[in-house]
Amino acid sequence: MECDKCGSDAVLHAAYSGLYLCEHHLCRAVEKRLRRRVREDGLVPDDATPENPETWVIGLSGGKDSVVLTSILHDVFERDPRIELVALSIHEGIEGYRDKSLEACEELTAALDIRHEVVSYDEEFGVQMDDVVEDDPEGMAACAYCGVFRRDVLSRYAEKLDADKLLTGHNLDDEAQTALMNFFEGDVDQIAKHFDASLGPFEGGDAPTDRTRETQDHHVPRAKPLRDVPEKEIALYARFQDLPAHITECPHASEAYRGEIQELMLGMEENHPGTRHSIMAGYEKLAALAADAFGGEDSDTDFGECDNCGAPTARDSCRKCSLLEALEAI
Ligand code: SF4
Ligand SMILES: [Zn+2]
Ligand SMILES: [Zn+2]
Repeated sequence: MECDKCGSDAVLHAAYSGLYLCEHHLCRAVEKRLRRRVREDGLVPDDATPENPETWVIGLSGGKDSVVLTSILHDVFERDPRIELVALSIHEGIEGYRDKSLEACEELTAALDIRHEVVSYDEEFGVQMDDVVEDDPEGMAACAYCGVFRRDVLSRYAEKLDADKLLTGHNLDDEAQTALMNFFEGDVDQIAKHFDASLGPFEGGDAPTDRTRETQDHHVPRAKPLRDVPEKEIALYARFQDLPAHITECPHASEAYRGEIQELMLGMEENHPGTRHSIMAGYEKLAALAADAFGGEDSDTDFGECDNCGAPTARDSCRKCSLLEALEAI
């Protein structure tokens, strides 16, 4: 088939839009959607100036999503002195997996000349994920531990690096899965939090919604500029732009429920192209309403500090500290 834009050989049929796209036009379409999302979410605030720039910390894992995010953000903001980019990678201590993906991160950030920080669970907490999986004091999936440690590292380092925003490479498939999981679990509170944590636009964004997010003092605000782009298109983009991305899956990946949802969603997408987009369009509206009803200040009121590490928590000791304590007790 031929590209609908230029007549060259098409590499993708985007069934949800009906378009056939060649390599060149697929890549431009991915970049365009990221730029539009940056605008709609109001990521560049009016008060960012060359003298007082915004710092965006990008969570760079070395997988295709974060590699593509870093590369496009670099291209868009390279000559914009209002925005400074810093890449932050995490070494979880997973043999044969993370070393390879960190090589990809280093190659990319060196090529783009972006500041790159690497933080390891070992240095931060004295643990390696390979051992955590082995010991498993709480009888939980690997990702449940890893997610707690990752959130802690990301928010502490985002602060340390003076980040105004923390950007991650979540794509359309990831976000639509999360939306469905929240529905299926009946978790309206989580839907409200999702809006204020990363979905809702900042002041000044031109997204077609009445509500902006309530940013919370104890968290660096997050954003997901690739969340309009399907996973497959990001993978193709990485390949066509010859970006160093690490493809292998983590050996401890254990989000079985998410996998089930992904299968269900892709089945629906195949029979009803556009399903992922319509899930997100409706979900964002509902999330704004849920945030109005359940989010904002109320969810904030009982936040104190962890007795041990000072992290924001509603309990005496934060989740990370109690997990570390359980691991030490073994
Ligand atoms: S798949 Fe799970 S265990 Fe592996 S790096 Fe991701 S969160 Fe951690
Ligand atoms: Zn074309
Ligand atoms: Zn703590």
